[in-house]
Amino acid sequence: MTVHIRPALDSLPAYAPGRTVPGAIKLASNELSFPTLPAISAAIMEALTGDTNGINRYPDNSAQQLVAALAEHVGVDKSHVIAGCGSVALCQQLVQATCSEGDQVMFGWRSFEAYPIVTQIAGAISQKIPVTSAHTLDLPAMAAAVTPATRLIYICTPNNPTGTVVHRQELTEFLDAVPENVLVVIDEAYGEFDTDPESPDGVQEATHRANVLSLRTLSKAYGLAGLRVGYAVGDPAVITALGKVAIPFAVNTLAQKAALAALAARDELKPRWQQVISERIRVTAALREFGFETPTSQANFVWLPLRERSAEFAAHTEANKVIVRPFQDATGGVRISIGSPAENDAFLEAAKSFAL
Ligand SMILES: *Cc1c(COP(=O)(O)O)cnc(C)c1O
Repeated sequence: MTVHIRPALDSLPAYAPGRTVPGAIKLASNELSFPTLPAISAAIMEALTGDTNGINRYPDNSAQQLVAALAEHVGVDKSHVIAGCGSVALCQQLVQATCSEGDQVMFGWRSFEAYPIVTQIAGAISQKIPVTSAHTLDLPAMAAAVTPATRLIYICTPNNPTGTVVHRQELTEFLDAVPENVLVVIDEAYGEFDTDPESPDGVQEATHRANVLSLRTLSKAYGLAGLRVGYAVGDPAVITALGKVAIPFAVNTLAQKAALAALAARDELKPRWQQVISERIRVTAALREFGFETPTSQANFVWLPLRERSAEFAAHTEANKVIVRPFQDATGGVRISIGSPAENDAFLEAAKSFAL
């Protein structure tokens, strides 16, 4: 006899570790390719070596100091904020907090690959609404697809992996159309890289509607992917529910200290974001010149909708020591993170020699 495992997990892929190729440039996980700021390292060291509340103690379960700083940062009361072990953990908590078995979770496709996984783990059903031919989320189609079983909708903007954004006006029309008992999550993991003047501000939307929540992270723009800190801004009733389904002590002591230091160092980080943005524009222009189709990205990555040729393209760049992220299927493509100028040059060199 073998141990009974929930059948819902059968079709989930087992975790496959990210590819590491010795000596290769990694442009596969949308990380910031800058060294950690000294002020952030110092805060981590202080938490390790300080003589009170070190790592022999449990972390503050509700991360009160960090939550207060985040609330001040976005301009809301702290009852509207919760921190999580990366915003992907909050994605999982959101499904757990809103869905019973058989309920539905809607998102564009393609969008963030974690959405269908956290949905399936909870025994809920994914509603994948195809993106438009311009690789943007199709908000009218999403509004029309809401059913009585829809509990949660993810709007990822800029969208991972296509890099496209939704605009304020269309989002307002969408939110007006969605029933108020359906939670709409604006996933703004890449918001700091978005320069589109028509982009919405998720926090502002969340402040005006009780069924809207903004999801943000310190993994991307703040360079803390390895420490796992994300946060949600929304109605206190939703924030309280998210706290109930959290893994205990999910945001560890070093992560809380580093996140506080990173928030305080925001002005030092901005030039880095600016470099990512100008490099994104340069990489996009070069790829178009080489003959690739690529939508205008507002994130720290670009998207090549190469569909069934995605794996072939990724193998080609890997042979040239650049690791990118392929999604090999009919709706797929290749996502390339923006790295340092030299890393981007190495990628462009490899892309140029791919036979389209
Ligand atoms: C990277 C990413 C996240 C979350 O990252 P964490 O490291 O878990 O905070 C959330 N949403 C999207 C769309 C992402 O791309």
